[in-house]
Amino acid sequence: MKRALLCAVLLIILSGCGQAEPHSVTLFAMDTVMELTVYGEGSLLDEAQAIIAEGEQRLSVTESGSEIAALNREGANPISPKTEELLRQAQALCEQTGGALDISIYPVVRAWGFTTGEYRVPGDEELAGLLPLVDYQKLQIKEGRAALSSGMQIDLGSVAKGWMGDKVLELFRQSGVKSALLNLGGNVQALGTKPDGSSWRVAVRDPAGEGYAGALEVTDKAVVTSGGYQRYFEEGGQVYHHIIDPATGRPARSELLSVTIVGDNGFTCDGLSTALFVMGLEKAADFWRANGGFEAVFLTGDSAIITEGLADCFTTMGNYANREVTVLHHD
Ligand code: AMP
Ligand code: MG
Repeated sequence: MKRALLCAVLLIILSGCGQAEPHSVTLFAMDTVMELTVYGEGSLLDEAQAIIAEGEQRLSVTESGSEIAALNREGANPISPKTEELLRQAQALCEQTGGALDISIYPVVRAWGFTTGEYRVPGDEELAGLLPLVDYQKLQIKEGRAALSSGMQIDLGSVAKGWMGDKVLELFRQSGVKSALLNLGGNVQALGTKPDGSSWRVAVRDPAGEGYAGALEVTDKAVVTSGGYQRYFEEGGQVYHHIIDPATGRPARSELLSVTIVGDNGFTCDGLSTALFVMGLEKAADFWRANGGFEAVFLTGDSAIITEGLADCFTTMGNYANREVTVLHHD
């Protein structure tokens, strides 16, 4: 009898130690579908959604009530401490990337119709008139206040999703969550490992076709992809995508079809994926060698180029399964 009781107690304890259950929510924000999955603490999903909704209302350039829209309209405006912190970090990343990332690109992005969906190809003269407005260095940030030079406009579309992902994961971590996976429209951010202790498997889209080009095994990492295929239009047989080279005001053109950045921080990975796509492969590889702190997968039309830290955790698949994989080394 005693033994039966002991067994029953043991069973209850063991089942209580079972793997945490997944809880998921799908939402639409920042013009994209997002999926948040947390293991164990399902009640945190409401708070996570609130972080994203608040971020969108505060940062989105197309939300007329946002701090960024107000700054663009007024030229100078008070900003909240959270927005100030983000603007300072974004400006520093623009500097670090030598202006390949430029958060003051909005006048040009708007001219191409990428925010409204009313796509058009701006003329040479129009672009020449807009380019002098693009210069992140002219953004002035003072305590509680930001100011732009005349005609300048900010767009945080290249970094906002990564920033929000970081804030959601901060909440999860502080609440003791050990496993969570965020997919914020191409920005994947993984907390910890899967509940069984194994790595997360994050697929990288095939930028030229359906399905996937490869998969990455990661723990506790952000995996963020930028590619021309994510938003584009066609006119006169030409494809024009949404990642603009601040030097020309035109969609960045190189052999790269997509850039995936793997690192500890969603904001940095988000900014770098956009910037390294603009740079093209050669400059992006130089940037990685000079700065480090992240890993990358570069996809061209016929091969994959990966940085050495991913050599053991990246596998090709789909149309890329039999294509060449080149590993970049630090020296
Ligand atoms: P992502 O999808 O993170 O690569 O960010 C692309 C978005 O950032 C675009 O839709 C634009 O709103 C904006 N953008 C485009 N080109 C740049 C650039 N060179 N620097 C900063 N933001 C950009
Ligand atoms: Mg980005």
